[in-house]
Amino acid sequence: MLLAAPAQAASAPQPCAAGSVRLTFDDGPSATATADILDTLADRGVEATFFVTGEMAAARPDLVRRASQEGHRIGNHSWSHPRLTTLDRAQVESQLRRTSEVIERATGRSPGEWRPPYGATNGLVEAAARQVGLDSMVLWTVDPRDWADPPATTIRDRVLRDVRPGSVVLLHDATGRNTPAALPMILDGLAERGYCTQ
Ligand SMILES: [Zn+2]
Repeated sequence: MLLAAPAQAASAPQPCAAGSVRLTFDDGPSATATADILDTLADRGVEATFFVTGEMAAARPDLVRRASQEGHRIGNHSWSHPRLTTLDRAQVESQLRRTSEVIERATGRSPGEWRPPYGATNGLVEAAARQVGLDSMVLWTVDPRDWADPPATTIRDRVLRDVRPGSVVLLHDATGRNTPAALPMILDGLAERGYCTQ
């Protein structure tokens, strides 16, 4: 009988009762934020995706390797973060191929996922991506604009306001000084709402 349903049950949702949310970190790895973020993810047993640039990955391949070894996915976010739609086909392929090579050297695996800087894409860019083995473009649905350095509580509030089952959350581990401080609060809020993360 419905009458017997205990109201208390709502205060402790089952993990994943609300669905899952994907956390993504762009533009790193960086000496300033990535290790902190990896520590928090490891403490919570949460897996995420890092869309690295080739320039940053070449400078800190140890952090790319660590993220991969700790179960996170590594995606390709171009070499130097240009707006790919302004480049010709050969330039786009170079941006993406060189980055995949750095990722493969660091992790032993060439990425299949990629994210165009600024979300700027078109048919030429996507054809170039497929040409270099990037078959899964991953954009985002929740953008708390953490790169503009709002307070950590604001980053959390924006994510929790906009999150839905299946959301892809865009965060940054290079720009975004307050992102490492926001992450534990975001994870707490998602768990309280019954979301699991991937
Ligand atoms: Zn970016």
